[in-house]
Amino acid sequence: MLFKKSQELFKQAQKIIPGGVNSPVRACRAVGMDPLFIQSAQGAKLYDADGNQYIDFVGSWGPMILGHRHPAVLTAIQAVLARGTSFGAPVDLEVEMAELIVKTVPGIEMVRMVNSGTEAVMSAIRLARGFSGRDLIIKFDGCYHGHADAMLRTAGSGVATLEIMSSPGVPQDTVKHTLSLPYNDIETLTETMQACGTEVAAIIVEPVAGNMGLVPPGDGFLKALRELTLQYSSVLIFDEVMTGFRVSPGGAQELYNITPDITCLGKIIGGGLPVGALGGSVEIMKQMAPQGSVYQAGTLSGNPLAMAAGLATLKQLQSPGFYDDLEAASSMLARGLVKAAAKTNVPVVLNRVGSMLGLFFTSTPVNNFEDAKKSNLDYFAAYYRTLLQKGIYIAPSQFEVMFVSGVHQKQDIETTIKAVEEVL
Ligand code: PLP
Repeated sequence: MLFKKSQELFKQAQKIIPGGVNSPVRACRAVGMDPLFIQSAQGAKLYDADGNQYIDFVGSWGPMILGHRHPAVLTAIQAVLARGTSFGAPVDLEVEMAELIVKTVPGIEMVRMVNSGTEAVMSAIRLARGFSGRDLIIKFDGCYHGHADAMLRTAGSGVATLEIMSSPGVPQDTVKHTLSLPYNDIETLTETMQACGTEVAAIIVEPVAGNMGLVPPGDGFLKALRELTLQYSSVLIFDEVMTGFRVSPGGAQELYNITPDITCLGKIIGGGLPVGALGGSVEIMKQMAPQGSVYQAGTLSGNPLAMAAGLATLKQLQSPGFYDDLEAASSMLARGLVKAAAKTNVPVVLNRVGSMLGLFFTSTPVNNFEDAKKSNLDYFAAYYRTLLQKGIYIAPSQFEVMFVSGVHQKQDIETTIKAVEEVL
């Protein structure tokens, strides 16, 4: 497989775009490659600038749960194009979107649309602080909540991949209000809340962590979060930017039956267009301007194109059997990967929740960021490069997940398992 055109484009890009990419996770430094430039996509397949074809398990980092260019999504976008692309005034689609989210996500009675997951989290943090009158935030090592200042402490995803953990430019005065604790460690969490719970505005968590590879919540972890936040009158924020409408229609909160106070959404609800949202109880959400005084705004928020793409996607997810089929394809892939590894001496741990999978090159269980970091990153890099040559496109970092979509066919899964068998 040759990547000549991608390499030429990357050379040009590096002169005028920092690092040649508009988001660091797209750079393939951790796997010793240059990024591929994508020309087009259809269903579960991606085509790069050199015409190479791949089975796609990145899905634009989560949103493409229906695969690429789903007819219902394209039709919805085309219909809105006939009306206009942005009005900066309310449109009917925003109301329809809010109604659908409120009906589906247990913890949301009222919702505000924004333009990205980062914005959703940033606004949720401000809202929790405004509501509680406190400053301190607790997050967990290896969880990624976007790139707002307050969240860049021992973060996952690109921050972990680049091994920077935080960022110059984030004032110490800002992050001193953020504590980061080990994921799945109920004891440390309880001790911390005993020590300073009355100062904690909010605990924010990925209820299924997908930014240190895939790490499910351990027994009782989410329940402990709920109980402790209630005990100390802190706000519980579930960052479901990745898990929302993916691990079940109502997200991880529905799957694990734990209802947070604020939920952050993104990715899938935009159907591939830029979107985020934050929602919660009326009591909390009514604090937001203009109903309340916690300020938050956006020129393009609730953009009609994004609402149309998102709504079309969410409606497709309601098709009978959608999540059952997704589960069947994901479980087939997981079983195949484990079987492929068992035929070799390569130690692997496979974590999975629904259509999110994490394959770690380590022999010990992965329950938190420290465990994930024990993975053999050099082995992952070689695995990534060889798999790509075989036409399988996964995220270029051990600290990301594989996303299965509703259009991955049995044959795609079989081809992938065969390729992994050859690579391991
Ligand atoms: N929260 C989670 C759990 C995420 O996975 C991400 C992005 O991957 C974000 C927040 C940030 O979203 P965005 O990249 O849309 O700003």
